[in-house]
Amino acid sequence: MPDRFGDPIEPTPEPVSDAVWAAEQRRQAIQACTLCDGDGYNGLQVCPHEDFRPAAVRGRQLITQTLAEVRDRKADQ
Ligand SMILES: [Zn+2]
Repeated sequence: MPDRFGDPIEPTPEPVSDAVWAAEQRRQAIQACTLCDGDGYNGLQVCPHEDFRPAAVRGRQLITQTLAEVRDRKADQ
């Protein structure tokens, strides 16, 4: 039976407990992640499901650049 706008009425999903909801979210994150195994571990660590390597590379480049600027400034003195 359609609603008053003519759209079909979808059944209301059954409510689930927070633990069941969290388990489903964790399962989906593990399934979508390419960094961890099926249990959510990357080696011996729990995987954050986010690749921080690009940020680490950018940070190292900024530090290297800043250190070079300081070194050049000190050499000019
Ligand atoms: Zn992961």
